[in-house]
Amino acid sequence: MPNELENIIKDHIHRSGPMDIATFMNYCLAHPQYGYYTTRDPFGVTGDFVTAPEISQLFGEMIGIYIRAFYESLHNPSRLYVVECGAGRGTMMRDILRVIVPHIDVSVHIVEISKPLREIQQNTIGRADITWHDDISTLPNDGPIFIVGNEFLDALPIHQAININDKWHEHCVGLVKDELQFVAGSPLHAANLPDAHGRKIFEYSPRREAIHSELCARIQAQKGCLLWIDYGFERGENRASLQAVKDHHYADVLGDIGNADLTSLVDFEALIHLVPKDCEYIFQTQSEFLKSCGIDMRCNILSNKNKSQAESLSQGYHRLVDDDQMGHLFKVLSVSKT
Ligand code: SAH
Repeated sequence: MPNELENIIKDHIHRSGPMDIATFMNYCLAHPQYGYYTTRDPFGVTGDFVTAPEISQLFGEMIGIYIRAFYESLHNPSRLYVVECGAGRGTMMRDILRVIVPHIDVSVHIVEISKPLREIQQNTIGRADITWHDDISTLPNDGPIFIVGNEFLDALPIHQAININDKWHEHCVGLVKDELQFVAGSPLHAANLPDAHGRKIFEYSPRREAIHSELCARIQAQKGCLLWIDYGFERGENRASLQAVKDHHYADVLGDIGNADLTSLVDFEALIHLVPKDCEYIFQTQSEFLKSCGIDMRCNILSNKNKSQAESLSQGYHRLVDDDQMGHLFKVLSVSKT
C-alpha cells in the first residue's frame, strides 16, 4: 500500500530541496490527515509505548500532591487554572484531580492536537467543564496557573546540526535515488550553537524553547508553576537522540512514515537557561521528585488498604523510581513564581 504521507514529504523535497528535521517531524507527528498523533491512540500494551501515568496511579497522584503544596504557598487563591500540555489518555489529569478536588476550586485546561485523544481524555476525566486548546496562545491569562507536561516536550520538533569539517550544517532529510535519506544541508551560523569541534551532532529545538519561554512568562505574570517531566540530557550531554518507536521497539526514523512515534531527549540545560531571573526553579530526577512528594508512603497506604493490589502497586512503584528503570533517565524541571 503506498504511504501517502511519504509521498507528500517526497513531493515537498522535489519542490524545495532537502527538509530540516523539524519540518520532517512535524509532517510525521502532526500532519492533519496522516500524522502519528493526529490519527491514533498510541498508548498502552497494545499501542506503541507506555508512559508513567499509564504505569501507575501513584504518578498522577504525586503531581496532585505537588499542586496542593504549591497552592498553599500561593495562600489558597479562590481558583487555580490547572493546565496539561499533551494529555494522552487523560489518565494523569484524572489522578491529579482525585487528589486536589474538592480542596482546590480548579478550572481544567488541556493543550492537545489530537482529536481522537481529546475524546478519550473526556471519557477518562469525566468532567463537563474541560477546555481544550490547539496551542498555548489561548490559555487563560487572568489568574494563578499550574501547567504540567509529561512526555510532551520530547514530541516537539527538533533540528539537528551535523559537524562537517568542524563546521555545523543543518542535518536534513533528502532524496537519494528517490528514497528518503539523511543528508547534510546548508551551513548554520546560529550564535547559540556550541563549538563543533569533537562533536558529531547537536540537537536544538526552537519550538520547545519558545513554548517553554512563553509559559515561563505566563507564570511570571499570573503567578504559578510550570512542571516538565521528560527523558532528557543533563548538563553538557547533548548528542544525537532522535528515535522512532513502534510496537514497543526502536524503529527506523525514515521507515514507515507517520506510523511510528518520533521523539528526542530534552535538553534541560537549554530550558534552565531561559528561566526568568525572578522565578525559582528546581531540577531533579524523577526518582528524587516522586520521593520528595511522598510516593513511598502513598504506595504503602494503598497496598495496606488493598492487599490484592499490593504486588502490582509495588511493580509500578519500582518502574517509576528505580534508577535502572525510569527513575534516573526521566527528569523533572519545576519553575515557579509565588
Ligand atoms: N502526557 C501523556 C501523553 C504523552 S505523548 C502521557 O504521559 O501519557 C504526547 C502527547 O502530546 C499526546 O497527547 C499528543 O497528542 C500530544 N501532542 C504532541 N504534539 C503536540 C503539539 N504540538 N501540541 C499539542 N499536543 C501535542
